[in-house]
Amino acid sequence: MVSEAWRKFDDEIARWRDAGRPVEFWWRDDDAVRPAPELARLLELAAQTGVPLALAVVPDAAVPDLFAELGGGVSVLQHGVDHRNRATAGEKKTEFSSGEPAEAALARLAAGRSRLESLAGARSIPVLAPPWNRLPALLLPWLAAAGLRGLSTYGARAAPVPVPGITQVNTHVDIIAWRDGRGFVGEDEALGLAVRHLAARRAGAVEFAEPTGWLTHHACHDEAAWKFLRRLFESTLHAPGILWRRAEDLFGDGRVRG
Ligand SMILES: [Zn+2]
Repeated sequence: MVSEAWRKFDDEIARWRDAGRPVEFWWRDDDAVRPAPELARLLELAAQTGVPLALAVVPDAAVPDLFAELGGGVSVLQHGVDHRNRATAGEKKTEFSSGEPAEAALARLAAGRSRLESLAGARSIPVLAPPWNRLPALLLPWLAAAGLRGLSTYGARAAPVPVPGITQVNTHVDIIAWRDGRGFVGEDEALGLAVRHLAARRAGAVEFAEPTGWLTHHACHDEAAWKFLRRLFESTLHAPGILWRRAEDLFGDGRVRG
């Protein structure tokens, strides 16, 4: 049975198909540090469905065994450095607080970058997905000097290349209900977020060219979340007019290819 939420999602995809424009999706999963049953389930889902996975790994917490488990089609992004909350009074949770000197934050970022590269090898692409999706704007111009060439946060991006040398591609559909039990947010909400981003792209309310990003957190998935993701992936991967993009292709050469 097709619910109202799935029907609206399919209708939105059909609007893009009718207009001759491909719907571009990508998938980022956060907080990988070590082998765990939930991570194994995530990797199995990626392998079975064939949807390219961008796994955001915390460099300082990552153990070498993590990387032995990753199959083909998995790329590794940098999820901060240590994922410690450094928010000062009045700030929302963030690893990169305005209270930390920029030089210190950038030195940590560069060290995290090299640690991750030495652990993950060729799978690692120099893209920062900051914990809690927050990064002070003042650090942006210095990311390239810290060895990065991409940034991924949450919500429609302001620009594809916010500063020279850095390509930004965000996520837009967070499937976890952080303030309400930390389980699956539900099909209505997840598909509704996707439809809203796609419709806003068509309407020109947000940038048309930014692919719609699905954000998952394997450690928080309940059965409903796993079931939803499998259905989403299986129903869209080979559907006409839908492209699941690899992170390498989105961030690969410093610009987003059409
Ligand atoms: Zn995180």
